[in-house]
Amino acid sequence: MADIIRLLPEYLANQIAAGEVVQRPASVVKELLENSVDAGATSVQLIVKEAGKQLIQVVDNGAGMSETDARMSFERHATSKIKTTEDLFRIKTMGFRGEALASIAAVAQVELKTKKRDADTGTRLVIEGSEIVEQSPVATPDGTSFCVKNLFFNVPARRNFLKTNAVEMRHILDEFQRVALANPQIAFSLYQNDSEVYKLSAGKLSQRIINLFGNNYKEQMASVEEDTDVLQVRGYIGKPEFSKKTRGEQFFFVNNRFIKSGYLNHAVMNAYEGLLPKDSHPFYVLFLEIEPQSIDINVHPTKTEIKFENEKVIYAIVQSAVKKSLGVHNIAPSLDFDG
Ligand code: ADP
Ligand code: MG
Repeated sequence: MADIIRLLPEYLANQIAAGEVVQRPASVVKELLENSVDAGATSVQLIVKEAGKQLIQVVDNGAGMSETDARMSFERHATSKIKTTEDLFRIKTMGFRGEALASIAAVAQVELKTKKRDADTGTRLVIEGSEIVEQSPVATPDGTSFCVKNLFFNVPARRNFLKTNAVEMRHILDEFQRVALANPQIAFSLYQNDSEVYKLSAGKLSQRIINLFGNNYKEQMASVEEDTDVLQVRGYIGKPEFSKKTRGEQFFFVNNRFIKSGYLNHAVMNAYEGLLPKDSHPFYVLFLEIEPQSIDINVHPTKTEIKFENEKVIYAIVQSAVKKSLGVHNIAPSLDFDG
């Protein structure tokens, strides 16, 4: 009987791999914004049309790329960010898998313009479904611009699966807010169908929160500060009376990476115990700094889930940090101060 196992053609393997990284326009937004942050940009612009279905463009003033790097950047597992296994356990950058651009280019039409600061001229590349279709020198400002058009043009099933513009835009806003919160020292702007949604100047975290969510947050936030041997916690929480019926702005960042954690959310909710009206949710933006060796961010391709070596200790410290903040700001008469 004939053998039946075959290697997949590269374009098909790429499309399948892309499915893990690029689920929707917001995934592209996340990857491109994080690359701009990693490139040391001080100013980043995001432009979307039709909730990213038609166009997602990110323009930064970061390090830029050489002509060879520009081509290399679209190869799978091509990265400038890690070299060795040891590097994997002390990651300082947002990216490290070298998969995002390869994945995006497999399922969209991408135009890259990039120039390093000390270079005379820049590079323009056009890639469609993983194929370079144009390459030329180009006059372009220092930094990098990625234009991602017609996402999933070659994967109709995926394209049809996209939600309404309102829903997809909500996901884009979530990603934009996460990156903007994690990097208040970087100026960000967002344009949607040619109108300005955000123009955020560089500054402090408190100012970034107010610029993103509204001036009324100014009076309603309490700062969180806790230092222990294993963990440092910084950020802001909302006063209990400021809580909302709908789950609103709740953010955890671990070593400046946004993560989702029902476990840590539980720690925060525990700290608020007895202070919140029933079924209401507090505001929080909390930054945890921890030894990179004691976490694993490699558990999920989008890196929004991580594993802590010592989960229970982290839980206890987060809870006590929030309790302390609620107590310090003198709004928690019922708090147990012996604990
Ligand atoms: P990763 O971020 O995991 O390294 P990506 O596929 O996102 O993988 O990017 C591949 C490489 O392309 C990066 O390692 C970086 O060297 C380069 N790169 C991507 N985006 C930019 C950018 N905006 N500015 C400068 N270099 C970039
Ligand atoms: Mg990346």
